[in-house]
Amino acid sequence: MPVSCSSCVEKRAMLKRPKTGHSLCKECFFMAFEEEVHQTIVNASLFKSGETVAIAASGGKDSTVLAHVMKVLNERYNYGLELMLISVDEGITGYRDDSLETVKRNQQQYELPLKIVSYEELYGWTMDAIVKQVGRKNNCTFCGVFRRQALDRGALMLKVDKICTGHNADDVAETVLMNVLRGDIARLRRCTTISTASEGEGVVPRCKPLKYAYEKEIVLYAYFKKLDYFSTECIYSPNAYRGHARTFLKDLESIRPSSIVDIIHSGENLSVREGVKMPVQGTCSRCGYISSQALCKSCVLLEGLNRGLPKLGIGKHHRLHGKILSQQPLTEKEERKLKSVES
Ligand code: SF4
Ligand code: ZN
Repeated sequence: MPVSCSSCVEKRAMLKRPKTGHSLCKECFFMAFEEEVHQTIVNASLFKSGETVAIAASGGKDSTVLAHVMKVLNERYNYGLELMLISVDEGITGYRDDSLETVKRNQQQYELPLKIVSYEELYGWTMDAIVKQVGRKNNCTFCGVFRRQALDRGALMLKVDKICTGHNADDVAETVLMNVLRGDIARLRRCTTISTASEGEGVVPRCKPLKYAYEKEIVLYAYFKKLDYFSTECIYSPNAYRGHARTFLKDLESIRPSSIVDIIHSGENLSVREGVKMPVQGTCSRCGYISSQALCKSCVLLEGLNRGLPKLGIGKHHRLHGKILSQQPLTEKEERKLKSVES
């Protein structure tokens, strides 16, 4: 027997909300989903009227839903925001070139300006070339560090006030778990914050309006709204450790759907004992970007690539950074260590 929507009680329910278990019709689901994002934005005062906001768009489901919902809410509630899209081209043949085509279509569909910044133009390296040098084990370290800075640089070119990213509840919960498993207290403390203030010059404040939106609901929203998004995985995606955290989280969710939001709440309520040493934020002596070391991670990784010593920025080689950068010769053993890509 058809079940009627538990919200409007008129229409036939089309889905069971993964987050709450409610049976809803399509329209009531759209409204519930959008209203929750609106509440997230209002409760955390994410935006101010008159601000220019760049949506980090990859062409994937999260950022496509984010762009759509931001446009709907901006109009429905008169946020007074000027929205635009910003995309990073990592230079991954067969993946990013195709997903950027989706972003370009989104630009037309949502009538938003689009800026694309590429690794090649910013760093002189594409991810295809980086993978050739570093192999397929540490490539995501390079990609993640470069992307963060690339988004900031693009946002500065566009002169936007804020960047919003499509990180969803599953991503945040997964990151909490990962930081617990790694014992990374500094990141654990930061990873649940919904918005960051500018951490220094060249760093644009960021926020996550989908922080409490479940991945499964984002997929349903995109599906029922027939949004145009790209769903292929990156060809260089080896991140095995994160994969285990993700599988673990999905297993927990299947037993108890509230696990995702419960993990986020646990992360939000953790406090770090006084006296625990935290990295001190300074600026990179080469490029001026924020860094807790003399050189930012991006400059160290780049230096390693340009010198054919790809492991320079991976693992604990801080002792050698100074030596390399002041052009002191390395011992044969040290060179060997930094050259090898598999360890
Ligand atoms: Fe970059 Fe790794 Fe993501 Fe691919 S999976 S886009 S290499 S961070
Ligand atoms: Zn730097």
